[in-house]
Amino acid sequence: MRDRNPILRHLRQLAESEPELYLPRAERALTSTNAGAKADANADVERLATGQSALSSASAQASPAQFVVELAALAKTALACALCPLHETRHKVVFGVGDAHARLMFVGEAPGADEDAQGEPFVGRAGQLLNKILTAMKLRRSEVYIANVLKCRPPGNRNPLPGETATCMPYLRKQIELINPAVVVALGAVAAVHLLKLAPDVAVKSLRGRIFNLDGRPLIVTYHPAALLRNPSYKTPTWEDMQTVLKVLSGELKWQPENKPFTLDN
Ligand code: SF4
Repeated sequence: MRDRNPILRHLRQLAESEPELYLPRAERALTSTNAGAKADANADVERLATGQSALSSASAQASPAQFVVELAALAKTALACALCPLHETRHKVVFGVGDAHARLMFVGEAPGADEDAQGEPFVGRAGQLLNKILTAMKLRRSEVYIANVLKCRPPGNRNPLPGETATCMPYLRKQIELINPAVVVALGAVAAVHLLKLAPDVAVKSLRGRIFNLDGRPLIVTYHPAALLRNPSYKTPTWEDMQTVLKVLSGELKWQPENKPFTLDN
């Protein structure tokens, strides 16, 4: 069966052409005479290429090394991606950065000029502010994972176009699935809209104070650090949101997947 999703189709092609990068176990098994091992290897390749490594199976069945290998393979695919017109104007693909085992993942909108130049998300002024927020949360940047909805910079920092986000979102969804964070923070409306499939004109203000269900994991929406730079009055509500994040991470604030969405006032 043909994969309709171009990213998954590309992953399949890469898995077939470079199995040693993707699945060392598959490489060994496919060259062995053991029929059972070959069947397992074929299943692994199929799972990787079709995106069927659901959160539960990736966590429960795959070894940590395997999902890190899958994440590296996904990054390699993204770094060569030319699936939308943004590849023509980008300097570097900004895949994501941080701990593959992170319990907390931040998702922003798209790379800016600094990120495009360095290939890393949140390295400009907004990134420095995010670092300060992390420090205040007593977290190191290397302990969390940071990514964007778009992996390539829209020219002039314009808003992402629907076709661009639709094409690029499978990378982010796969990243979240593989990293399997305990909590996701959407930084700004664009991240919230695309992760939660909301109306495009929704405001961050209307999403704060709630805990959303992102495929069974809690998602909290707060202001993008760039918005804090423009409007310092957002700092206090953002810090309140980060307190909520810490409470969910520590278990002080209980959240169950059936809470859709969970309102803090309840
Ligand atoms: S924005 Fe995403 S889909 Fe478009 S070229 Fe970059 S990585 Fe590929």
